[in-house]
Amino acid sequence: MKPLISEEDLKILENESYTVLKTILENGCKICGNQTVEFSSNIELNETVDIITKSWFLEIECLQCNDKYIHMMEMKSDDRNEYDPADISDRQAGYRQD
Ligand SMILES: [Zn+2]
Repeated sequence: MKPLISEEDLKILENESYTVLKTILENGCKICGNQTVEFSSNIELNETVDIITKSWFLEIECLQCNDKYIHMMEMKSDDRNEYDPADISDRQAGYRQD
């Protein structure tokens, strides 16, 4: 069985976090403009028998006005049993449970 979090997944976290955080740190808090923000980057896994859904998101909190929000970066679903990288772009468009 392949690992739940692949190296590719970690790269997405790294690249997306960098891009988003760079913008946030340059512009400051969207409410008060303060640049002292606290953040954490996350990958959330949701497993069913066949499919793993992964979400990449940042939790951002302004230490001045306490504005707190979640920034979604990426979301995709992987088939647990077969891994076909060519298929990823088709699947990340949406996930629904039948
Ligand atoms: Zn603020």
